[in-house]
Amino acid sequence: MADSTESESRKLLGRLREAMASDDAGQARLDKITHLIADSMGTEVCSVYLFRDDETLELCATQGLNIESVHQTRMRIGEGLVGRVARFGKVVNTPDAPNAKGFRYMPETGEERYSSFLGVPVQRLGEMLGVLVVQSKEAREFSSDAVYALEVVAMVIAEMTELGAFVGEGAALSPLHQQAVLIHGTSAQEGAAEGNVWLHEPRVIVTNPIADDPQRELERLHDAVEELRVGVDKMLEVSRNGDKEQLQVLEAYRMFANSKGWMRRMEEDIARGLSAEAAVEKEQSQARARMSQVQDAYLRERLSDLDDLSNRLLRILTGQGADTGAELPENPILIARNIGPGDLLEYGRGLRGIVLEEGSVGSHAAIVARALAIPLVVNAKRITTEALNGDHIMVDGDQGVVHLRPDETVVGAFRDKIAMHTQAQERYASIRNKPAVTTDGQRINMMMNAGLMADLPSLDGSGAEGVGLFRTELQFLVRNQMPKRSELKALYQRVLDAAHGKPVVFRTLDIGSDKVLPYMKPTDEPNPALGWRAIRVGLDKPGVMRMQLQALLRAAEGRPLSVMFPFVAQFEEYRAAKAEVEKTIERERILGHVLPSDLEVGAMLETPSLAYAPQKFFDEVAFISIGGNDLKQFFFAADRENERVRRRYDTLNVSFLSFIERIVERCAISGTPLSFCGEDAGRPVEAVCLAAMGIRTLSMRPASIGPVKSLLLRVDLGELRKIIADARHRGDQAVRPAVMEYLRGL
Ligand code: PEP
Ligand code: MG
Repeated sequence: MADSTESESRKLLGRLREAMASDDAGQARLDKITHLIADSMGTEVCSVYLFRDDETLELCATQGLNIESVHQTRMRIGEGLVGRVARFGKVVNTPDAPNAKGFRYMPETGEERYSSFLGVPVQRLGEMLGVLVVQSKEAREFSSDAVYALEVVAMVIAEMTELGAFVGEGAALSPLHQQAVLIHGTSAQEGAAEGNVWLHEPRVIVTNPIADDPQRELERLHDAVEELRVGVDKMLEVSRNGDKEQLQVLEAYRMFANSKGWMRRMEEDIARGLSAEAAVEKEQSQARARMSQVQDAYLRERLSDLDDLSNRLLRILTGQGADTGAELPENPILIARNIGPGDLLEYGRGLRGIVLEEGSVGSHAAIVARALAIPLVVNAKRITTEALNGDHIMVDGDQGVVHLRPDETVVGAFRDKIAMHTQAQERYASIRNKPAVTTDGQRINMMMNAGLMADLPSLDGSGAEGVGLFRTELQFLVRNQMPKRSELKALYQRVLDAAHGKPVVFRTLDIGSDKVLPYMKPTDEPNPALGWRAIRVGLDKPGVMRMQLQALLRAAEGRPLSVMFPFVAQFEEYRAAKAEVEKTIERERILGHVLPSDLEVGAMLETPSLAYAPQKFFDEVAFISIGGNDLKQFFFAADRENERVRRRYDTLNVSFLSFIERIVERCAISGTPLSFCGEDAGRPVEAVCLAAMGIRTLSMRPASIGPVKSLLLRVDLGELRKIIADARHRGDQAVRPAVMEYLRGL
């Protein structure tokens, strides 16, 4: 088939289908297929190489090479021409293979006799399954038609591999999606969970890759694309007045849905014998392969839009909706490429764990997962292609590791870990209602951080004495548009109701830097963390701040209210913000609204400058909360979002602890209540050191209250303080080693 016509291509696929329908075992089928392809392509050799494991390709069937080398010849990805096809997902087509770049001679196959080589990837939806190769003695470059024909065949082989067609006696191939897989990702929420896979977007299974009536397939494709276009237009109509970003995505969808190039390629695939769904999947697979090579963020987004659109089209064609009728399994562990906060909230607390192929530690999904205290691993490469609904899975949120279809030893070890977690939880539950008093009688207030409705049940469950930091921006971040004042009021009211009189500190909108509202015009700043953020935005554009203050005042309605402003860098900013509060109160009074019974206005200390504000600031401010995450990044000039530097400086560095001590002293002079609400408050060792420096209120994630309290109950702060002073005196850079030694001896 040197000059492969569409009808020849169809004939070959027809013969492949017959081979598949036979009762032959997996290996016999594969052998027959290589024979048919070589025959049809007019080549002496056709071979199929499939992945044995992530790194190794194995010759699984051949027509023309030494038959003894089947299941013996192996190569690593990237090795030889076959390995190069697999590594780069690209076709290699050369008339002179022995002299081509990367050629590796494999004597056992007897392949030195063959000059021309054409290898195409066997891939399915971004998953590289193997390589299909034809070779001939005659030195010739294969025509683009021949390449295309082989790609179509490779697509069919990929589908068949997925369906397990080559598994069986003598095949020496284990079926896909049955082996144990270990995936290393990034931890985004601690905890260990065991359960069963629930795919947020189930895989569409194509059971009929080959079709013999191209006319009928074309009609099916056209009907489905039409249905898709109408659907996209409808969505566009609905969102016309809504969120701009969503509109942009839909516009891009429409562009693809009307793309002539996309349509033409699928029509050609069908003309060569593929079914409509296999044609869609072939183009989708190739787009995914391109996606993995593209660095440009914009292009990646566009390719991912095309991917979404292909999924929709496949669902229309196969009738396999997003809702497959499958029921959420017991102990569901959610698997997704990525997921929005809204969708995640809908699943709610029923989930045991979450694994995302993309996502990031600071993403909104991560925020929600933390609020729900569900173990979360992000950056888990290939999880959506590896996992199937119902698979047994274990998620280690502490280490960022996922065990898919784990074997017995892993299961045993993991269950021990879960048991230890459970025991620890039981221990924490037993001290839930006990005050955190150290052995030398110092009482520490244990508060929790919150931001979503989903956090509220933790107020009772964790033993928190109140909410030390309510991050109000989360409610803004999880929406597609600016919330209304009435909505916010209702929400804040629910928070105060749930607190049953325990104190709640509402932090006003803290946006900018890493927290970008999807519906606000982005500002292009060279250094967003040092830019227009938090109180700076609030003071420059006071409209939203006033609206939020009104909502807070109305929610309190006769109850006490605590409000604090984020990222105050100087006294003047606090004064200006406080003046806004007073103006708002005056307006509320005139409007006849019931005012809070008591109002405290505090400031977050997140920049070193505020620690050296005039003492009068400390006299005037109702309370101060140290935002350790930001404070530490500015103190050490090390970006909290930058993996390369964020762990470089220890919180227990003597410079930082001395600085904290200075803040404690300045607050003490004015009698200003002081708390610490950064992540370090929830780390037991850091927390006891902060307490030793004089901090008496710690605010942390609810799940951290147990572990921190448990350690506080065992330490003597006086002794710890002395250990810290000695280490400082000795000239240690960080007090951690000395402190750890003391703690180990407890
Ligand atoms: C902080 O900076 O420590 C803090 C609590 O605020 P956020 O993490 O929300 O910036
Ligand atoms: Mg902060």
